[in-house]
Amino acid sequence: MKVGVLALQGDVREHMRSIEGAGATAVTVKRADQLAGVDALIMPGGESTTIGKLLDRFDLLEPLTTRVENGMPVYGTCAGLILLAREVVGDEDAPFRVPVLDVSVRRNAYGRQVDSFETDLEVSGFEETLHAVFIRAPSIESAGDEVEVLAEYDGAPVMVRQSNILASSFHPEMTDDERIHELFVSMAN
Ligand code: GLN
Repeated sequence: MKVGVLALQGDVREHMRSIEGAGATAVTVKRADQLAGVDALIMPGGESTTIGKLLDRFDLLEPLTTRVENGMPVYGTCAGLILLAREVVGDEDAPFRVPVLDVSVRRNAYGRQVDSFETDLEVSGFEETLHAVFIRAPSIESAGDEVEVLAEYDGAPVMVRQSNILASSFHPEMTDDERIHELFVSMAN
């Protein structure tokens, strides 16, 4: 099982460590030929505008959309969630996206860098709560019928799944709890 981590910008190394901890092989993906060689892909946190522009510049938008539409598991955290969202609302857009996930998101909805926070979440299917780190996180303002909400914070979804697409507004790769990466690896198996 080879899991790619999109390595254009953002917290790539942390995801590679978590994927290896979850028992799969992690490789970086920067080009279309590398994308073709992975079984699943993580889109890390970072700056969604920057990552989107690089996806466009490296001609990855179309092959990535096609692969996800054909069933490749993808997991987006934070900026990765924004890049997978069908719609971005509010003042800050992220124009280059892979809009496969039927949610509407708002960037930086939980505040600026100083407003980053940590909390314990109930996650559907997990026996114990999960310590979640939010860093300038997007909010999920609405989700379509196909979208299953796996965790909520303050009454709004913060982790969702739509068949082969998993996304969270927080950063599980920032802790050594590997349960979400294990869930993702199991989706790819
Ligand atoms: N604020 C960033 C954005 O809007 C996301 C932050 C993150 O990925 N931690 O793109």
